[in-house]
Amino acid sequence: MIPAKFEYERAESVDQALELLGREDAKLLAGGHSLLPLMKLRLARPALLVDIGRLEELSYVRDAGEQLAIGALTRHYDLVNDPLLQEHCPILSYTAGLIGDPQVRHRGTIGGSVAHGDPASDLPTVLLALDAELGVRGPDGERTVPAADFFRGLFETALGPQDLLTEIRVPKLGTWKGWCYLKFNRRAQDWATVGVAAVLRRDNGTIEEASVALTNMGLTPLRAKAVEEALSGSSADSVADAAQKADEGSSPPSDTNASADFRRELARVLTRRALEEALSR
Ligand code: FAD
Repeated sequence: MIPAKFEYERAESVDQALELLGREDAKLLAGGHSLLPLMKLRLARPALLVDIGRLEELSYVRDAGEQLAIGALTRHYDLVNDPLLQEHCPILSYTAGLIGDPQVRHRGTIGGSVAHGDPASDLPTVLLALDAELGVRGPDGERTVPAADFFRGLFETALGPQDLLTEIRVPKLGTWKGWCYLKFNRRAQDWATVGVAAVLRRDNGTIEEASVALTNMGLTPLRAKAVEEALSGSSADSVADAAQKADEGSSPPSDTNASADFRRELARVLTRRALEEALSR
């Protein structure tokens, strides 16, 4: 449980962090709640830790017209309590409140959660359901990556070794009327055995568009496309049938928490419940 030897530098700005990231085997340290456990298990052995944890310039939630812009260093605790998010994108602040325990929420950051690429994490699933955009700075300048293209594999994202995730942009849910995130876990502070994010746009009794994404049902967060197609243009009565398709195209793991079959069943049940709750908001 003791990490391999490493150097440590605290970055005073994003520019300096990017410069330090150019050194061999350098890695960013944000909240440290995912990286440090990996280092203690010696599954990660960076030669240099570049600490960005005190970069205030990356900790914010701002109104950006039809979107909200969230700095990558914004802590889970601040997402929970931010009035802009609570008003315009409540699914994100609500979900941040389900992460770990108070200590994890006070240290962990949205950028760290997204960059880590763990399919059991909650926020990436919500960002996928929201069609969020991820702002990245790297050696070739700035670029924007849609959430749908960001998560590439187990702990693998579109970020290169010298890239820094700076900002996450989510839509204001003005026209998306209903939302819900549900997660099943055995102990309150645990990662999701399975999680479901649902965002619906309705007009009277018709579901015009549905966005549904799953946590821990494969190597990355996944969109439940069969559910979305079954719901598009349908009535609220179709929710139970559509939810039966939740596990189509998924490849859930079997581990000490649950078998793959149990996860498939959980995905179907949680999707139905999440859709019903989204419809009731
Ligand atoms: P770090 O650990 O500092 O970094 C993680 C990785 O991301 C590293 O590879 C790092 O180099 C990279 N990175 C960090 N910031 C950036 C950036 N801006 N740009 C590019 N790369 C970056 N998560 C959940 O979703 N749900 C849970 O229920 C949950 N429970 C937890 C319970 C415990 C006990 C613990 C310890 C963690 C839990 N987590 C959970 C994970 C938690 O949310 C972490 O905080 C989060 O996954 C990582 O954020 P971090 O800021 O700590 O990142």
